[in-house]
Amino acid sequence: MISHFLDNFTDNLLPYLFLYTELHYKFKFLGSRYFIKEPEILLDVPHRIEPEHDIPLFLLIKDSHWFPVKLIDIKIEILNNQINDRFYYSFDKMINQKWWSEIFYINSINYSQNIKINAFIRYEINGFSKTCINHNIPTIKSTPLNSYISSEVYPRPLNSIYGDLHYHTNVTDDMVEFGAPLDSTYKAMKPLALDFACNTDHSYDIDDKIDSWIETDPELTKWNNSIKEINILNEKNKFNTFFIQSEELSLLNLDGFIIHALVLNNKKFLPGQGDGAEIPFDFSCKYNTLTLKNELEQNSLCIAAHPRSPVPFLQKLFFKRGQWQFKDLILDHIDGLQILNGEIDDGFIDGLNIWKKLILCGYKKFIYAGNDAHGNFNKYRQIKMPMISILEKDSQIFGECRTGIVRENNKNSIESTIRGLKHGNCFVTNGPAITINVLHENINYHMGDSIISDRINIKLNFNSNKELGKKGKIIIYFGEIGYKEKQIFNTIDVNNKEVIMEFPFIVSKKGYIRAEFSGNSYRGRRVALTNPIWVSPLN
Ligand SMILES: [Zn+2]
Ligand SMILES: [Zn+2]
Repeated sequence: MISHFLDNFTDNLLPYLFLYTELHYKFKFLGSRYFIKEPEILLDVPHRIEPEHDIPLFLLIKDSHWFPVKLIDIKIEILNNQINDRFYYSFDKMINQKWWSEIFYINSINYSQNIKINAFIRYEINGFSKTCINHNIPTIKSTPLNSYISSEVYPRPLNSIYGDLHYHTNVTDDMVEFGAPLDSTYKAMKPLALDFACNTDHSYDIDDKIDSWIETDPELTKWNNSIKEINILNEKNKFNTFFIQSEELSLLNLDGFIIHALVLNNKKFLPGQGDGAEIPFDFSCKYNTLTLKNELEQNSLCIAAHPRSPVPFLQKLFFKRGQWQFKDLILDHIDGLQILNGEIDDGFIDGLNIWKKLILCGYKKFIYAGNDAHGNFNKYRQIKMPMISILEKDSQIFGECRTGIVRENNKNSIESTIRGLKHGNCFVTNGPAITINVLHENINYHMGDSIISDRINIKLNFNSNKELGKKGKIIIYFGEIGYKEKQIFNTIDVNNKEVIMEFPFIVSKKGYIRAEFSGNSYRGRRVALTNPIWVSPLN
């Protein structure tokens, strides 16, 4: 009974702790089963590899300034069909720094589809010689890392880019979780066919002193350092891959519960720490959804983060966490909703429902996608019971759910990306690419645009591959403002083919048109949803 109660208790209490698991925090009197006098050591790899890209393997060692370690060597084993390859890397090197990382590249040419990777990491610490497989978290069994070596490129509409809008870097470094260094994340992007990401670290972590989980830094060193590093890396990568400086702000909804907002490209840091567990029983936040308006700069974007992820009762009680409500979401300065947060779960279904309610009521709000990954290119490790156990899963990993933005030209820049997102010229997916557009009197109307006409031709484009799911159904909806949504045209069966179709549509009522794909791939259910094109008749 007790263990059952504890299980539920901690499940409920620890809400969004998806992470590279921090092993060095001990609650004052409890001790911790997974506390170790070693730095955290782990190997990571993107969950998929674009054709003609090497496989990057990221070795990360954290907190070796507290626990210096001698890294001896690493043996990497790759299993694929009948192949069993081994690679050996010798180090014999003392490591003594907060963040240390190394990347190994393995040629992907000999492999196809699913591969399994195991790294046998040999090190010396406290006078002992040890070997761990893939990581040194003591309470979790080592399972192989999985990646998919794709022979087909990620499907991409013309002039589009892909971004993960919700991602935690190593600025998120607190008592229970930490993210990956920026430099490693840039290197993971191209193999994932990802063009950009937003470093939405928690507002309550960004303002901490380095190496402290609770002390506030008036100089905002972490924030300023990450801006500098992003500027340097964006330039160095010539914007082939880039980051948009962002944060995940803790703020209050209009009922006084704590929610999260993705604030993208706001030059000024916005504080918020009611659910950071840094000051016991202090759930205050500097902003609520209404007062936030005055802080948002002109070229920033504000998105409701995982707006309808369920909040268990105990989290509500102890962290005062809540959900975005209709009255918060209708506010003008809230651009839209991040309904896809790393997996197809109840939060996605409920998020989709509240979004449909908003657009049917005539609010022009858009949908976006991210993963809420904390580092995690391959697996999520989540604290199940604080100080006792850690769970592992393979959802909410970097780059799986993504936002595809269709732009006027093919030039990568922060400005054009923000503009595309702000106008809703985008779709969300965890696999296939889907877009709608309307060519009318020589103007190309994208998703997010509005058009006044009595008669239009809607063009639908759908593209996928074996890896991302080529079987499923596409439905096109017309939503009549103030009334309801209905399916227009027949359901399109996607059966191993690209879909390019054009449909004439008579506009007799004010409303919107949107398309939705649902199908399957080897990773389970795949969805792709367009943002709407809004339509009104001439009179
Ligand atoms: Zn969050
Ligand atoms: Zn987050």
